[in-house]
Amino acid sequence: MQVAEDRWSDGVPEHQVSGPVDITELSRSELAGRLAELGLPAFRTGQLWHWIYHRGVTGFEPMTTLARQLRDELAGRFRIGRPVPALEQRSTDGTVKWLFRFADGSEAETVFIPETDRGTLCVSSQVGCTLTCSFCHTGTQRLVRNLTSGEIVGQVLAASDALGAWPSGRAGRPITNIVLMGMGEPLYNLDNVAAALRVISDNEGLSISKRRITLSTSGVVPEIERCGRETGVNLAVSLHAVTDEVRNVLVPINRKWPIAELMQACRDYPGLSNARRITFEYVMLDGINDTPEDARALVRLLGGIPSKINLIPFNPWPGTRYRCSPAPVIARFADIVMKAGYASPVRTPRGRDILAACGQLRSDSERQGRRREPRAGTGVGGDIGTVGI
Ligand code: SF4
Repeated sequence: MQVAEDRWSDGVPEHQVSGPVDITELSRSELAGRLAELGLPAFRTGQLWHWIYHRGVTGFEPMTTLARQLRDELAGRFRIGRPVPALEQRSTDGTVKWLFRFADGSEAETVFIPETDRGTLCVSSQVGCTLTCSFCHTGTQRLVRNLTSGEIVGQVLAASDALGAWPSGRAGRPITNIVLMGMGEPLYNLDNVAAALRVISDNEGLSISKRRITLSTSGVVPEIERCGRETGVNLAVSLHAVTDEVRNVLVPINRKWPIAELMQACRDYPGLSNARRITFEYVMLDGINDTPEDARALVRLLGGIPSKINLIPFNPWPGTRYRCSPAPVIARFADIVMKAGYASPVRTPRGRDILAACGQLRSDSERQGRRREPRAGTGVGGDIGTVGI
């Protein structure tokens, strides 16, 4: 394991707190409007967009297709925001995890998981979480705030910097997929999430196809339809139980929107088809939700919904009351699911040598006395063993 810590830890740069407008907070049309106010022609929007989201520049100086006078003028009015990596950990399996710090000092985790046929970036949508899923470390942390659209995009930009992942760069395209499975409930911050996804999927910039973006929800039923309609991305659901009795404990939002309502919202998800399935995440908890009868009930529950199943071996965190189901129990559960037609349901945990699960990075950081303002870690949805969907 390599650990590069606190390379940027001496406070938040002043330019991130005040001053010029952060372009990453603007949609393409908002940027066009701002440039029009300056009397600039429409093609300048495309030029800036290309430099920022295709070439990955962090300032105006390298924008050599713009005259110097214009670069100076833009630099006086705008900035190109990035969170700063307060901590970076690299796993022996290639997984990289960052604790990114935003302008107000809040911090959140972002994880990159390379696989043979793709590279997935798991991003956060909130700092902390209002929900209290009992198996999730982030659920023990209070909500600090929603992330802005620019801060969600900024995680992709900063990770691309660290990986040399710019479309124009030599490393090719290490980041091919995005999952909103980090900390927070994305559907409680849907406006900002949707705005960020429009930037991330813009085909003249980062250009990550909506087909390669997945949003994971704990089950905020009233927002599921709007999510599909406004974002067009894939949906994942943190299901984890097949009865309301068990799910009420594991995912307490279930008391508000029980399983039957959640399943109906899934059936109604815009664009759902065999080519565009919903992923159901199911954490394997010893003695809680892992019997053969649970497996059969899961298959019955998902009947008629084009779906995939991700069985997630629980990655315990200090203080949790749960244990991971034994390997033979997971294998038996998976066998029932596979015989029902769901391929490769068990996710391989990744990056366990870098404290990969459930906000453990935060806990580790706190133990070492580097605590500043509240920060949060990924929930089980952000347990990097879950991605690859
Ligand atoms: S699993 Fe997700 S929604 Fe539930 S507490 Fe953790 S971060 Fe929040």
